[in-house]
Amino acid sequence: MKKGFISFAMALLSVLIPAAEIAAGYPVIPEAGEHFEIYSIEGTAGSVTGQRWVNMLAWREQARVLAQRYRDIVFVNMDPADNAVYLTFDDGPDTANTVKVMSILKEYGVTATFFFTGSNIERHPAVVKQAHDAGFAIGLHSCSHARMTELTEDEILSELNRNNDLLETATGARSGIMRPPFGALGDREIEIIDNSGLRIYLWSIDTLDWAQSDPSEILRNIKDYIRPGDIILMHSGPGQSKSAEILPSVIEFIRDAGYEMRALPVTAPPSSCYQN
Ligand SMILES: [Zn+2]
Repeated sequence: MKKGFISFAMALLSVLIPAAEIAAGYPVIPEAGEHFEIYSIEGTAGSVTGQRWVNMLAWREQARVLAQRYRDIVFVNMDPADNAVYLTFDDGPDTANTVKVMSILKEYGVTATFFFTGSNIERHPAVVKQAHDAGFAIGLHSCSHARMTELTEDEILSELNRNNDLLETATGARSGIMRPPFGALGDREIEIIDNSGLRIYLWSIDTLDWAQSDPSEILRNIKDYIRPGDIILMHSGPGQSKSAEILPSVIEFIRDAGYEMRALPVTAPPSSCYQN
C-alpha cells in the first residue's frame, strides 16, 4: 500500500519536473547492467613517486567518477565483453616516432588510434595523410597542448575547431573524438566538448612511457594490468621514442595473450561550423 503510493508520487513528480532538471547537477548513475564496467586506471613508473604519485591517483579516481557521470561522452575503457584492447598514441605526428609506430603496426597487421595535436599536424601534414590513408583512427588533442581546465570556453572551442580544420586540410576528413592534454577535465570542459559534438577518450592503462628510463617498463605495465576492453596510453610525438622502441614486443604479447587490437570508434564528426 505504502510502496504503491511512493511509486505513484514518484511518477507524478517525474511528470511535473522535466527529466533534464532532475538530472542537472547530479551524477547520472545508470541501472546495474545497463552499461559496462568502468575500470580502475592502472600503470606505474619508478620515477613517479611522492606527491606526484598521490596527485596521479587522485586524478585517476576523478576520471572514473567523470566517466561514470557522463556515461556516453567520456570513456576510460571499452566494453570488456569484446576481447579487444585499444592502443593509442598521443602528441604526434612527427617524422620519426609516429612514422616508426605506423610501420610497426602495419608490419604486424594491427590497427591503433593517434591523438594528433594541431601544431604537429601543421608541421607534418603528409604524415597525417599517411596515417589516415592507412586506416588508423585519428582523434584531436588540441592545438597548443594546454590544460583545458585553464582555458575559457572560447579558447577550448577554438583549440578543437582549429585542430579539426587542420586535420581536414591534411586528410579531407574531420574527427569526432578527442583526448584532453594531461587528461585535464572537469564538468565544465566535458559540457563544452559534448556541445561541440565530440566524444572524449581517456585510458585505463597508462604505460607512463614518458617517465620510464627502461622501455621494458612500458611492456611490464601492460603485462601486469591488461584486461579486455583496455585503452592503452602511449606517445609518439617529437622526442617520444620509447613506446616505438618496445612496440613489437607489446604487440606480440597482446596477440599471444589472445586479444584483438582495434582502433577506437571515430564517431560522426561534428559539422564544420560548431562554434557557438
Ligand atoms: Zn598529450
